Amino acid sequence: MNAEQPTIPRIWVFVEQQEHQVHPVSWELLGAAKRLSADLPGSVVEAVLPGHQVADLAPQAFQYGAARIYLIDNPVLEIYRNLPYAVAVSQLVKEHRPEIFLIGATTLGRDLAGSIATRVGTGLTADCTELSIDPANHILAATRPTFGGNLMATILCRRHRPQMATVRPRVLPMPDPAPDATGEVVTVPFDMREEDVPVKRLRLIRAEEQPNIEYAEVIVAGGRGMGGPEGFALLQELADALGGMVAASRPVVDAGWMDASRQVGQTGKTVRPKLYIAAGISGAVQHRVGMSGADVILAINTDPNAPIFQIATMGIVGDLYEVIPALIRQVKGQ
Ligand code: FAD
Repeated sequence: MNAEQPTIPRIWVFVEQQEHQVHPVSWELLGAAKRLSADLPGSVVEAVLPGHQVADLAPQAFQYGAARIYLIDNPVLEIYRNLPYAVAVSQLVKEHRPEIFLIGATTLGRDLAGSIATRVGTGLTADCTELSIDPANHILAATRPTFGGNLMATILCRRHRPQMATVRPRVLPMPDPAPDATGEVVTVPFDMREEDVPVKRLRLIRAEEQPNIEYAEVIVAGGRGMGGPEGFALLQELADALGGMVAASRPVVDAGWMDASRQVGQTGKTVRPKLYIAAGISGAVQHRVGMSGADVILAINTDPNAPIFQIATMGIVGDLYEVIPALIRQVKGQ
């Protein structure tokens, strides 16, 4: 091991790729890592990319802020399986001892992060909504909702390293790529044979395409105030006219009016559209944590005291069954 390594605070970001497609949360995390690095003297931002024949993805990591990328290449890493990924990344962590390690709270990231934390003997703050450097201690301050979203807890990891955190897609802003940025690719040897992996892929059955509301630029969301599933056709018409997607609050999903993949909030998705229209949604804190990052929020509610108006850019006090058709006519120029 290089003698200088323990003295350089390394901020690591896990680059998640499947079938050669990088999940955008990886770039969101690199943006956050750069901001943290500015407050952590002498620190460097580095990325970890496991996979098979994925070296061509490295330049993107440089563009989003990594100074160095550790490329772990082995055929056993071609598809995601917990064991080879956890072993490969944990070995690297033990060797280089990063200060901070950030992973996307995706299905893959949630599965992997806990395994790595266990293997390297550290803690994990899951589902963070904010990351900063604690000025007094120069350590990571990882904030996440707790007690059903009613309290925000800031967690400091004083003793164990790395300080690990997962963050959901869209919680953090997407940084602008720097097209000319370059960095160093470090190829990491990893010995594992297919015979050593107990989980085999026998066949690939693709899930039905899920609506990806997380990256929609316009969202028209309906709440319990819709009164039933029928009204969602109206929201779909407005969403189509605006080139957007329909989403929902949790009671709507619980009632079976909408699929769970469209739920926004603490136990649903986090979204960050340019325009979020909240129709018949009261604005409970558990809903707001999933959509307050929208550029413009238009709230439509019959109750002038509904909490959604506190965070809305624009509000219309009125019956959504009158307001939405008027909006559709306006948008369609009728
Ligand atoms: P309501 O709070 O019932 O609001 C309905 C609104 O519609 C009211 O403000 C009413 O004035 C208005 N309205 C009624 N009729 C009309 C009309 N004709 N026109 C216009 N407005 C009308 N919630 C989420 O959304 N997402 C989550 O991920 C989530 N996770 C949770 C996790 C936990 C641990 C807990 C405890 C709760 C969670 N919740 C979540 C639930 C959350 O607390 C609220 O109960 C929920 O967000 C309320 O949904 P709503 O605004 O659609 O319904």
